Amino acid sequence: MNRSSASTEKPSSIGVPPVDLSREYASIAPEIRAKLDRVFRSGRVVLGEEVKEFEKRFAAFVGTRHAVGLASGTDALFLALTAVGVKPGDEVVTVSWTFFATVAAIVRLGARPVLVDIEPRSFTMDADLLEKAITPRTRALLPVHLYGHPADMPRICEIAAKRKIAVVEDAAQAHGAQAAGKNVGQWGTVGCFSFYPTKNLGAYGDAGAVTTDDDALADQVKLLRVHGGSRKYFYDKEVGINSRLDEVQAAILNVKLTHISDWTKARREAAEYYSRALGSLAEKLVLPVSRPGCRHVYHLYTVRAKDRDRLLTHLTGRGIQADVHYPTPAHRQPVFRDADFFTSHLPETDRAAREIINLPIFPQITRDEQDAVIAGIKEFYAS
Ligand SMILES: *Cc1c(COP(=O)(O)O)cnc(C)c1O
Repeated sequence: MNRSSASTEKPSSIGVPPVDLSREYASIAPEIRAKLDRVFRSGRVVLGEEVKEFEKRFAAFVGTRHAVGLASGTDALFLALTAVGVKPGDEVVTVSWTFFATVAAIVRLGARPVLVDIEPRSFTMDADLLEKAITPRTRALLPVHLYGHPADMPRICEIAAKRKIAVVEDAAQAHGAQAAGKNVGQWGTVGCFSFYPTKNLGAYGDAGAVTTDDDALADQVKLLRVHGGSRKYFYDKEVGINSRLDEVQAAILNVKLTHISDWTKARREAAEYYSRALGSLAEKLVLPVSRPGCRHVYHLYTVRAKDRDRLLTHLTGRGIQADVHYPTPAHRQPVFRDADFFTSHLPETDRAAREIINLPIFPQITRDEQDAVIAGIKEFYAS
């Protein structure tokens, strides 16, 4: 991949998007067009051969016996929690520092999210807080591999195994990430993935999947995605939802899956480039780190910044679209104002919401664009 930009402008004057899917498409357009033409000609556009192929290949990518294609990552969470037996009134221990869907999936089931705080360096579930959060009503632990960095799976799975509690992984941001040499999505009872277009592996619309080694769980999710029907127009066990994956999205994912290793490598190189260039600002910025033995896939490049809000305004003024994932943690969302978990004391979560900034990162970002981001940050702290 050519990583230098054709632009002759000074690096400091180019705008930088948070992500640019059109560049990705430019690199795979003929493959996508040929695939889609075949899908449309076949006349089979939902849950067909492309979905089967993708499920087989994605399971191999993650290293599980099964992958089940679904309509979104949110559905993956909802159906995984359903399949491990979470019922109304049960508790699921998760984090508030995540995309809203993680907590919403628990609430939609009528279960109660028990929110624990995060480790300050990895921004993932603090395993030290689990013992206190688990009660006899705890049905599952739901760690999130946020920003592409795995949660502390060896410890989380050990605690869950001792108490015979299911582990549902939210791997929506972490395709290909590893903890202790083992892929995310392979650690828990079930792994949940999103293929929303901007995720590390993305469709051109909504899509998701669960991964598992458990044959019965995989079968159950396959039923639940078609309303629970075990054969056409026949429903005998459980009422499900419509969460079918279509052939168009599966075909696109089959093309993109062949490129994910290269794209992950490019993300990791771009992250290294930022870290080398910004290392001199140690008093102003805390750069991302990986827990020992972990492989970070940099869905987002997240730093803690002194004077975060002013830095964000400064960068935005220069056309650099840095962002904050997420400005309001789940436990502070107004919709939960009367919920009993709203009062959770989560100081690291609140601190992250005040301090972090996500710098633009995607596989096709150019060095010139990164230099513009770096120059913008250095200029801000020099003044
Ligand atoms: C994107 C995302 C989801 C939801 O996935 P969708 O495909 O958008 O439904 C869940 N959890 C996390 C952490 C995410 O980033």
